[in-house]
Amino acid sequence: MSKKIKKEEVVLKDWDHKKLGRELDLFTFSDVVGKGLPLWTPKGAAIRREIERFVVDEEIKHGYDHVYTPDIAKLDLYKKSGHYPYYKESMYSPIDVDGEQFMLRPMTCPHHYELFLDRPRSYKELPIRYAELAKLYRFEKSGELMGLQRVRSFCLADAHIICTKDQTKQEINSVLDLIEHMASVLGLKKGIDYSYRLSLGDRNDEKKYFKDDKSWDFAENILRSVLKNRKSKFSEVEGDAAFYGPKIDIQIVNANGKEDTAFTVQYDFVMSKRFDLNYINKEGGKSEAVVIHRSSIGAIERTIAFLIEKHKGSFPTWLSPIQVKVLPVTQRNEKYADKITKLLKNEGIRVEVDHRNETLQAKIRDAQVERASYMLIVGDKEEKAKTVAARERSGKNMGPFTIEEFISKIKAEIESKKLN
Ligand SMILES: [Zn+2]
Repeated sequence: MSKKIKKEEVVLKDWDHKKLGRELDLFTFSDVVGKGLPLWTPKGAAIRREIERFVVDEEIKHGYDHVYTPDIAKLDLYKKSGHYPYYKESMYSPIDVDGEQFMLRPMTCPHHYELFLDRPRSYKELPIRYAELAKLYRFEKSGELMGLQRVRSFCLADAHIICTKDQTKQEINSVLDLIEHMASVLGLKKGIDYSYRLSLGDRNDEKKYFKDDKSWDFAENILRSVLKNRKSKFSEVEGDAAFYGPKIDIQIVNANGKEDTAFTVQYDFVMSKRFDLNYINKEGGKSEAVVIHRSSIGAIERTIAFLIEKHKGSFPTWLSPIQVKVLPVTQRNEKYADKITKLLKNEGIRVEVDHRNETLQAKIRDAQVERASYMLIVGDKEEKAKTVAARERSGKNMGPFTIEEFISKIKAEIESKKLN
C-alpha cells in the first residue's frame, strides 16, 4: 500500500508544467548554465513577452510609472535597508568590484527608494508608484528547486507605492482591484484558483519583527478593514509577515494540490525611517511617507507555470505560442500556403506552416498536439476560391474564410484576450 502511494507521488500529472513545458517546448534547463536558471525557448518566450506587455500596459493604465534599475547593487544598500542580516540566507555571496562589494539583487525595493530620493518630494507628487519587471536572484537549496515554480533567477512584476499615511487605504484597495482584474484576464477565479490571506507579525519575535506595536496595530487594521470592506473572504495567520510590516498574501494551488503564496501586498512602516523617505507636507514641514510593496501577478516564471497547468497547455489565443498553423494539402499548394503565412505574419500573428511530406491527417494531428489555436487548411479548392478552411484546436470545422475575414476575426480575439 505505502509502496503504491509512493509511486503515485512520483508520477507527474499529465498537465504538470514541467512535463507540458518539455512536450510543448516552452522552456528548458542546462546543467552547464546552472540549476534553477530557466532558459526560455522561442515558444515559451512568446508567452512571456505577451504577459510582460500585458503587465506593463495594464499597470501604466492604472497609474504606475514603469522604471528600470540594475540587477546588482552595493552590499551597503542592503545593509541600509536591513535586508542583509534578515535575508542573508537567500542572497548570493558578494561580488568584488574594485575593492567594493556588490550583490545580485534579491529584491527591488531599495533601488526604488533611491529613485524617490533623487530630489525633494512634495505631498502633491504622492502617491508615487514605481513599477518594474525586475530580475531577481535568490538562493534556493537544490532540493527545493522545481520547474518554473521555484527557481534561482526570476522576474517579478514588482512595484513600490510611496504615499502618505492617509492614502494607504485607498492605495491598497486599488492594488487589490488591479490584482483581481489581471487575474480575471488570465482566467483565474477568486475563491477557486486563488484566495486572500492576511499575514500578521509575531510581536514576541523581535529578531524577525521590527519592534513598534503601535505601527503594527495600525497597519494590520488597515489591511483587515480593506479586505472586510471588499467583502473578500480571507484567512489570518500569525508570524508570516515581512520584518517591516504585515501583508496580504494571494494564495494559489498548483497541479499537485500544494498551496503557495503567489504574490503579496505589504504595508511597510520601517523603510521610510531607514531611508528617510520624507516629503514636504501642506504646512511646508517634513512628513514620513509609507511604502506599499506589491506585485500584480507575482513572478512571471511562477505565473506561467500556473497558467500552463490551469489551461493544460491549451492557452487562450493571445498567449498561444502558435496562434495559426497553415497546412497545405499537397505540394502543389505550398506557394499559396506561404503567401497566407506571410500575410498573417505581417499582421503580427504567430504563425507556422507545415511543409512536411505528410498526409493532411498527420499534419492536423500534430498541430493539435502542439496546441496550435487554429489550423488553416489550404488545398486546390481553397487556392482556387482564394480562401482558407479554418479549424479550431478542438477539431471543429469553422468553414471557409477569405484571409481578410480570418485575420480580422483572430485579431479581434487576440485584442480582447478572450479565454477559451
Ligand atoms: Zn519591495
